Amino acid sequence: MQMAAIERDEREAAGGATVPFAVDLGPSALPCSGCGGIAGNRMLSLPGEPAATAPAARFAYSLCGSCESLDLVDVPAEMAGYYGGAYYSFRSGGAARGLKAGIARLRNRAEAFGSGGLGGLLARIAPHARLRQLRPLVAGAVGRPLGRDARILDLGCGDGGWLRQLAELGFRDLTGADPYLEPSEAPGLRLIRAGIDEVEGRFDLVACSHALEHMADPEAALAAMARLAGPDGVVMVAIPLAASYGWRRYGGEWVQLDAPRHLHLYSARGFASLAGRAGLELLRTTFDATEFMVLGSEARLAGIGPHQRREGLGDVKAAMRAFDRAGARRIAALTNRLGTADQATFYLRSKSAPGRPRQG
Ligand SMILES: [Zn+2]
Repeated sequence: MQMAAIERDEREAAGGATVPFAVDLGPSALPCSGCGGIAGNRMLSLPGEPAATAPAARFAYSLCGSCESLDLVDVPAEMAGYYGGAYYSFRSGGAARGLKAGIARLRNRAEAFGSGGLGGLLARIAPHARLRQLRPLVAGAVGRPLGRDARILDLGCGDGGWLRQLAELGFRDLTGADPYLEPSEAPGLRLIRAGIDEVEGRFDLVACSHALEHMADPEAALAAMARLAGPDGVVMVAIPLAASYGWRRYGGEWVQLDAPRHLHLYSARGFASLAGRAGLELLRTTFDATEFMVLGSEARLAGIGPHQRREGLGDVKAAMRAFDRAGARRIAALTNRLGTADQATFYLRSKSAPGRPRQG
């Protein structure tokens, strides 16, 4: 009796019962899709982020007692409703023109290649996190130095905006794949309508940014990425991170929980486990949370999440002005240094790659 009480207290201390804005539904029998753990797994009821085309609802996630990753338990049958027309991946920003485009190119070049001067200043004022992810690749700190002739694949590329920016930077062998896009072709850039399993070829860089968390079978997806990168390529995966400041501070109102669109939210440990099973070894991790972790979550707490905002369901601008942007940036920078950021970019390569000892 007393032992049971102690065990319960320890379990609660481990996080299950103390997640903010979550209802603990008791033990979960679902093994973690990250580390495979089952001991101490808890079932949590978490608030979803409504869209104009789908109702607000709560969703059950299984929280891993070992690595603190989250798995959505029941995927809604009508998932399409949660990807209404305003979902950000599919919004085309339209090409910037004139002076504005010139300034953006200066900034983009500085982000990707790490150059200083005016571009570096612009990058500090208005960062472009996804282009910054290229820096260790271009510098040859991860894999072979990525040249402008490198074969680059972007999986889950949305409208292909990132690849178009790479084309502007001089990269000329670019492929984007997404199951929902309109196929198109331009010099050096082709966009194909395809899921991961349907893509063929070999690539020096296989990128997948904030798409894995939407996929039903992330292990199969990572194994496919390993195949597409072959023994010499690099796989670069960016995902939101559970077990982070964002999750622990905001719980069910953490902006990157994004229930039910995010089927799996891994901790860094859970992701490393999963990638290992998919045949990938981790080369480098960059924690890259932005002020969105705090500002987006605070907006949710004010009842105006990013999707409500995009769909015109609330006045988020007024809400956002109430928050301290500089303070939010300082918190994000601190979590990046401490490794408690709510997102990261992982650089990996196939375990069969030559010239590097196998892990484990
Ligand atoms: Zn786990």
